[in-house]
Amino acid sequence: HTPLLRIENLSVDFRTDDAVVHAVDGVDLEVDAGEIVAVVGESGSGKTVTAMSVLRLLREPPARVSARTLAFRGQDLRGLSPRALRAIRGGPVGMIFQDPMTALNPVLSIGDQIAETVLLHQRKPDRKAARARAVELLGLVGVPDAAQRVKQYPHEFSGGMRQRAMIAMAIANDPDLIIADEPTTALDVTIQAQVLQLLQKAQRETGAATILITHDLGIVAELADRVVVMYAGRVVETAGVVELFAKPRHPYTLGLLASLPRMDTETDRLDPIPGNPPNMAAPPPGCPFHPRCALARDVCRTDRPPLFEISPDRRSACHFHEELA
Ligand code: SF4
Repeated sequence: HTPLLRIENLSVDFRTDDAVVHAVDGVDLEVDAGEIVAVVGESGSGKTVTAMSVLRLLREPPARVSARTLAFRGQDLRGLSPRALRAIRGGPVGMIFQDPMTALNPVLSIGDQIAETVLLHQRKPDRKAARARAVELLGLVGVPDAAQRVKQYPHEFSGGMRQRAMIAMAIANDPDLIIADEPTTALDVTIQAQVLQLLQKAQRETGAATILITHDLGIVAELADRVVVMYAGRVVETAGVVELFAKPRHPYTLGLLASLPRMDTETDRLDPIPGNPPNMAAPPPGCPFHPRCALARDVCRTDRPPLFEISPDRRSACHFHEELA
């Protein structure tokens, strides 16, 4: 079958004056229609860079993107003109960023920005209809007094309300795919839950597949169908969400799960993974996780583990994935 999105062997380098940083190194990612795929990892794991590469949102240079396949709905995205890419963004692919303040235009009213997105993708541009649709969308994402608030500017919206406006823009043209990059990270905890619920509702109503980029496994458990765990620019484990939480097959995933706050114990003490992610200009030889891995042995320091196929929908890049079972 043809997946909605197919990425094969994606690599992204950033060139600086004295180093090349391998931010993404040979990543494969497939997303089927309607499914929610979470891409998880610490900052610097390459998860955001991977998502940004899909619609060529990275500045090239300094970024250098290469891939064997980069296809959306069977269409090769690699050779597309900036204009053709703009027609996809905000149309069949909706984007939600961590910080809506940088994604919104500060000198345009919220309503104008939503209407612009609608207009850009109308076959016969109709400004009046686009404005009416902006009010409707803002109401749909739970902004009260939408008819009045469309006239306001981004700085007059709270963080949570701005993120709702971003979601309204992402779903404005009935997308097939929503890419949400840390959509709630910048928000207060109480608002986070509301925005997540809204995202879930928007996803259900549009039926859009979603790539959810997050470092928060709590969000993953709640929303995702499938999980892709990234470390040091590579995929280290993929699995359905239930299997991943029940039986992780990579020590890094184990570490992430151990650092989740637990509801069933008195303590809210977290066990973060010791150490830091590697310097991507000079990643360690062998398994890039070995300096932090409690299970590392000699082979881990010399041989890079491939992404072993455990079953058709499970993979792990650990030499000892069988022992972890
Ligand atoms: Fe740890 Fe070795 Fe597995 Fe890497 S390959 S995760 S170092 S046990």
